[in-house]
Amino acid sequence: MLDLDETVLDNSAFAAWQAVNHKLYSPKDWARWVNAKQATEIPGSVDFIKTAKELGFEVFYVSNRNVNLTQPTIENLKNIGALFVDEEHVLGKTTTSNKAPRLKSIEDKGYTIVLLGGDNLDDFDSVVHHKLNIERRNHVENMKDDYGTKFIVLPNPEYGGFDSGIVDGYYQLSTSEKIEVRKKVIKPWDGK
Ligand SMILES: [Mg+2]
Repeated sequence: MLDLDETVLDNSAFAAWQAVNHKLYSPKDWARWVNAKQATEIPGSVDFIKTAKELGFEVFYVSNRNVNLTQPTIENLKNIGALFVDEEHVLGKTTTSNKAPRLKSIEDKGYTIVLLGGDNLDDFDSVVHHKLNIERRNHVENMKDDYGTKFIVLPNPEYGGFDSGIVDGYYQLSTSEKIEVRKKVIKPWDGK
């Protein structure tokens, strides 16, 4: 199982567009970006998928891209040369961003999930879904034998569940309040 964004697809051009235009994330802008199909490959991901196929595995993509963006997503994945790119293997978000039900639907078809690749802790275990960062860190500590073996993490410093993990109700905060709570948790160099 592979996540898509920042695991197989590199959206840093979208992030750069946000930065130069002072844009916060918005679903509307995101949909425009996805429909532009300009995400590039996270280096190595396509080789990884090809190797998995050669070894007899199948790759499923479990992504929180909305399911109504599946078609442009499939086209973008084809453009970068990914395999297993069809509606059976590309599972977008329908009712919940919690990936557990979609992973279970794969297992219910008779597959055994041997490896999960992602850039966000929520890609690996739904117990951290919408949890605070202290719980997320404890989870990694408790599950550390799985990290690097069953769970392959591609670090993403741009965004992730760690944003909303800063405080309860993060998404209900105003932009200026979000900036304030972020400033409280960063640990800057003192410049000396
Ligand atoms: Mg991702």
